[in-house]
Amino acid sequence: MSKVIISTLYNSDVFTMACRQFDKAADAINLPEAIRDRTKYPRRTFAVALPIRRDDGSVTVFEGYRVQHNLSTGPAKGGIRFHQGVTIGEVAALSMWMSWKCSLVGLPYGGAKGGVIVNPSQLSEGELERLSRRYMQEMIPFIGPHVDVPAPDMGTNEKIMGWMMDTYSNHIGHIVPGIVTGKPLALGGSQGRREATGAGVAYLVKKYLADLKIPIEKATVAIQGFGNVGSETAAALENYGAKIIAISDHTAAFYNAKGINIQKALAYVRSQKVLHNFDGGEEITNAKLLELKCTVLVPAALERVITHENAPRLKCRILAEAANGPTTNQADKIIDTRDDIEVIPDVLCNSGGVIVSYFEWCQNLQNFYWSRDEVLQKLFVILDRAKDSVELQKRKFKFSRRLAALTLGIQRVADAKAARGLFP
Ligand code: NAD
Repeated sequence: MSKVIISTLYNSDVFTMACRQFDKAADAINLPEAIRDRTKYPRRTFAVALPIRRDDGSVTVFEGYRVQHNLSTGPAKGGIRFHQGVTIGEVAALSMWMSWKCSLVGLPYGGAKGGVIVNPSQLSEGELERLSRRYMQEMIPFIGPHVDVPAPDMGTNEKIMGWMMDTYSNHIGHIVPGIVTGKPLALGGSQGRREATGAGVAYLVKKYLADLKIPIEKATVAIQGFGNVGSETAAALENYGAKIIAISDHTAAFYNAKGINIQKALAYVRSQKVLHNFDGGEEITNAKLLELKCTVLVPAALERVITHENAPRLKCRILAEAANGPTTNQADKIIDTRDDIEVIPDVLCNSGGVIVSYFEWCQNLQNFYWSRDEVLQKLFVILDRAKDSVELQKRKFKFSRRLAALTLGIQRVADAKAARGLFP
């Protein structure tokens, strides 16, 4: 008889959501009681205080987390989020999804996630550097290239990864590029990593459009979030010939039936940092963007934006989940009953990021570097394989695509835990 201590540590809507997804998948594959809860709950969690000197001489203490959900299948792997809304429960949920994602696409990794409660746009460059370095400093005893390998997520980028790598390397006494992925090329970053998540999203969208026999030149796309993932997805889909009719960030959303010029939007964001006052389309709300009539809807910002309220009103043919956890459990149930929407679930859809992070780590460990073409070619091979296995699982058991993807991911982690014994 297995007993679980139900902790309140991770209490939050998003953690509950990840647990419900897990429970449903575990029921679907009859995961034995003895393995269930230790596959579900995070293995270990760190909370750290991060004092930094502000530019005006004062000191502010920020709070940061790292949740290592699973270390049974390889070093833990997952991004670090800098956002004012970060909670330990959110980080835990994101760490669970990393486990299932890495497992689904066959990477030799566990799952982790990190976060700091901070609005990075309110820090100067120097303050951001001190915070990033301090976070890494506090994590040094708990991570390593064979223990846990962080990467960028919302609010963090390659410059921050470079500072973190440098902090770790100074501590060790020699350069250790494999401690983080998503670094600048000059510090051992991989060709193709910056665009990897968006390139993967766009590649899968192209494949699913082909399955639906919709020519990509006829596809219209609405994208929420214009950061790393949203903007790279937009650029790659535009390259494939699709028309991007709406984009947004946290400051504004824009619609243009004739198609938004993505290069112009990218140049605008490079100079202005945000989309506010962009003149490439009519201004709409982020809520309206999600309900636009389009072929492909791409949430690429926060979790839980597709809810039971807007799910019945979605007018897309494909919902491509570039963000992690954009669809609530209730919305998922509604979408399951709608034959007119194909969901590409997050653990498959945005896996391009961690796949190329894996390539970066392999290159760092070998000190042998690959070309961009080689990276993207290898990425697409893994995505094709993962898509095929999800479609097979979906057909074989009559699962939804999300359930197919999650059951595949969860089963492998559970198998590894069962094979290793009780400790890992
Ligand atoms: P980012 O910080 O580069 O960009 C986030 C974007 O979302 C920004 O444009 C921001 O303005 C926008 N945004 C924030 N709040 C918003 C709101 N309330 N409404 C509309 N837009 C809002 O982050 P990112 O790396 O592009 O990550 C985006 C999502 O993709 C996250 O869910 C992340 O977990 C997921 N993801 C990222 C990667 C990666 O490699 N970076 C990999 C897999 C998944």
